[in-house]
Amino acid sequence: MGELLLVLDEGTTSTRAMLFEPSGKCVGTQSAELTQHYPGPGLVEHDAAEIWTRSRACAQAMVDKAGGAQAIAAIGITNQRETIVFWDKSTGEPLAPAIVWQDRRSAAMCRAWREAGEEPGVQARTGLLLDPYFSGTKIAWAMENWPQLKEAGDRLAIGTIESWLVWKLTANESQGGLHITDATNASRTLLMGLGSGGWSDGLLDMFSAPRDALPEIVDCAGRFGTTKLFGGEIPICGLAGDQQSATIGQACFAKGDTKATYGTGAFVLTNAGTAPPASKNRLLATVLWQLGGRRTYAIEGSVFVAGSLIQWLRDSVGLIQTAPETEALARSVPDNGGVYLVPALSGLGAPWWEPEARASLSGLSFSSTRAHIVRAALESMAHQSHDLKTAFAADGADWARLRVDGGMVTNDWLAQDLADMLDVPVDRPNFAETTALGAAMLAGIGCGLFSGLEAAAAMRGSGTTFEPKLGMNERQVRLDGWAHAVRNVAEGLAGPA
Ligand code: ADP
Repeated sequence: MGELLLVLDEGTTSTRAMLFEPSGKCVGTQSAELTQHYPGPGLVEHDAAEIWTRSRACAQAMVDKAGGAQAIAAIGITNQRETIVFWDKSTGEPLAPAIVWQDRRSAAMCRAWREAGEEPGVQARTGLLLDPYFSGTKIAWAMENWPQLKEAGDRLAIGTIESWLVWKLTANESQGGLHITDATNASRTLLMGLGSGGWSDGLLDMFSAPRDALPEIVDCAGRFGTTKLFGGEIPICGLAGDQQSATIGQACFAKGDTKATYGTGAFVLTNAGTAPPASKNRLLATVLWQLGGRRTYAIEGSVFVAGSLIQWLRDSVGLIQTAPETEALARSVPDNGGVYLVPALSGLGAPWWEPEARASLSGLSFSSTRAHIVRAALESMAHQSHDLKTAFAADGADWARLRVDGGMVTNDWLAQDLADMLDVPVDRPNFAETTALGAAMLAGIGCGLFSGLEAAAAMRGSGTTFEPKLGMNERQVRLDGWAHAVRNVAEGLAGPA
């Protein structure tokens, strides 16, 4: 058997297959777009059948590139989290659209649960909040509104994306697939007890999730099953949600190690050790990995708007033509000229959690230019990250340094600004695809290529460190300016009531 690791990285807008050598070298990649369905305001759906056929085609291309299934040691899967799929166990076909993590259809249900005082209990058990983001609320909505799910009875299967892909990879004409989910994905459903690592009866009841429809919760690495779809047997050996996978890919193995991904949104995870954390600052507690039945946990904070702000400036406002030109524009002015942009274009995420908040651009004068506004947009990444760092510190999980990845941090000015405003060194790996790398590391552990996480960390390679340089006074002026601007937004003072 060969030593190549095949990763399926199933994102929100595209699905990819990537081929890694055990050294960490990426030797192939194939991707396909996924159709986004927006059937109404706040509604976002995917077609699970399309996810499968496109993922399979990408995987086939990589198997061909490898020279056949025998060249591949194992498959690792990493995926957009919280998105939920409903399918028929007898046909292996979807019974309904997949409800995507961004979908807000369960907002009214969440409000009702919160008003009934359910949130503290749910947070204590799951580490999560009662927000439409999480799968359980989407399941509750679907069970109430899509009669075909109840009608399917015992044939109903429910799972997150990795669960769906494992089923399809392992099913054949004579029998259904393997129905499993890994503990990181399960920890995003609102159905799993964070400390127990099992489905909780009380939570299944609350969210109307039939236990028989749910997958078995497994480790992130192991020999879970094999697929015979690519001209030979390939074991499936690694599973993790995308943010956890990126945290593993960044080798955040010690308590306190932190990574931040700046893509469409920004996601920060800090390794919180082996005891389930409890945030007092509206951060999330989640499973970082489960190996050998033992869980390591993370505290997580998400910022809804990161790179999407740059896309919005380009596509909707027309202020820039390309994302990379923001770097030269930011450098072209000595400071922000008093301009602050609070990018609450779809509400404010952690630690504010103000879904109704709307963005603001403040401090404008006749001397403000396009460059100031673009600089304020980039600066808002460090400002939002600083708010998160303050919340993490209050939860006893301050960051001594930050490992960054994602499309935005190819921008050197932005990476330096993060170091300056957070006042910690910022490490950026040369190979930016940390999400896929984490899944490759897990697959390598699961198939025995690596003895454990430390051995797998060799795949990560080297990078660049940005050291903080900004003077304390300038830093404080910015922090004060932002604090004022974001408070106005959070308190609803930015626009008409
Ligand atoms: P995702 O994985 O969420 O699709 P990526 O990690 O690929 O996102 O990052 C893409 C995002 O990064 C886009 O929103 C884009 O606007 C932003 N981006 C890309 N290059 C730059 C740059 N040089 N400066 C600032 N933002 C950038």
